[in-house]
Amino acid sequence: MKLRCWNNPATGHEGVRFWCQGCNVSHSLRTVGPAPRWAWNGDMELPVFGPSILSRCDIPDGKREPDDPAAVCHSFVGCNGARPGEIIFLSDSTHGLAGSVQPLLDFPENYG
Ligand SMILES: [Zn+2]
Repeated sequence: MKLRCWNNPATGHEGVRFWCQGCNVSHSLRTVGPAPRWAWNGDMELPVFGPSILSRCDIPDGKREPDDPAAVCHSFVGCNGARPGEIIFLSDSTHGLAGSVQPLLDFPENYG
């Protein structure tokens, strides 16, 4: 599975997360509940999300280590240049995969 489901009983929000090989963290998207919310085709292996996914990461101590997540990760999954199950990292992303199309990966074995 390329996606994992999450839900927060306290808020009633639900969604999915995917592993981002650009940031080496997962990105979570809300697919149920109030905006911001993403449209999703419901496919766990070949997902399509809209609109684009913009993740900004602040490093608490302000000192960025080499394996910290990117400061900006901006992507489309399954559309706008990526096929279902692929992610296109837009050029304003601050990691090394900016500007490329990549297949979504499975979660690392030791994740969660
Ligand atoms: Zn990312």
